Amino acid sequence: MTVKDNVHLHEINKFGSMAERWWDTQGEFKTLHDINPLRLQFIQSYIDIADKRMVDVGCGGGILTEGLAKLGADALGIDLSEELIDIADLHGLESGINAHYHKISAEALAEQQPESFDHVTCMEMLEHVPDPGSIISACATLVKPGGMVFFSTLNRKPKAYLLAILAAEHILQMLPKGTHDYKTFIKPSELSQSARAAGLELQSMIGIEYNPFNKRFSTGKDIDVNYIAAFKRIE
Ligand code: SAH
Repeated sequence: MTVKDNVHLHEINKFGSMAERWWDTQGEFKTLHDINPLRLQFIQSYIDIADKRMVDVGCGGGILTEGLAKLGADALGIDLSEELIDIADLHGLESGINAHYHKISAEALAEQQPESFDHVTCMEMLEHVPDPGSIISACATLVKPGGMVFFSTLNRKPKAYLLAILAAEHILQMLPKGTHDYKTFIKPSELSQSARAAGLELQSMIGIEYNPFNKRFSTGKDIDVNYIAAFKRIE
């Protein structure tokens, strides 16, 4: 597979078709809004975001990118959906947030700007591409030696099927049906292995858990469903 092919157009179109509702905190992307503070906290437990040059790979409408920019980062969001890049740009303008957006693949940006970013984020994206290893390796190329790369994704465990697909999409209807495909979920061991091969050292992994009774997300030890991981690029 060439780098150019590392995209499922149906995924880009699926997310792009919902672009206008990306910032509706009660809409289809409520979950991303709800987990965003937890992701930012996790990132901040490793790095001081202020004044750092950061790239957010697969940024969608910019929920995480804006969060980084608000904390003082010089943040660039990249995605292959034109609709989402437009929405992210527009939302940034409306809210006076100084983030930048660009429609480009992680692999192409890595070729143009290797070792150019202090830190890299790539959240809820790896499970939507044909070759996640290629994205992981591009993220490792983008970050400066000694910098951090943060990934989050879904674990390929039956429990994740039950909770992230059956419960979240079908029973509780927290996510649109068809958001996720179990086959594409990534085990923590697979993520670590690809990352290690790309020169990234695992620092830690934590779970993002959902409590259906109080409808809240929290971080914890359970990485069976949704998890977030911190890696450091070897110096
Ligand atoms: N990272 C964001 C959005 C997650 S949704 C957040 O967590 O808030 C998944 C995003 O990945 C969508 O915006 C989709 O357009 C993007 N995406 C899917 N395949 C991609 C690819 N090959 N390159 C870049 N972005 C991609």
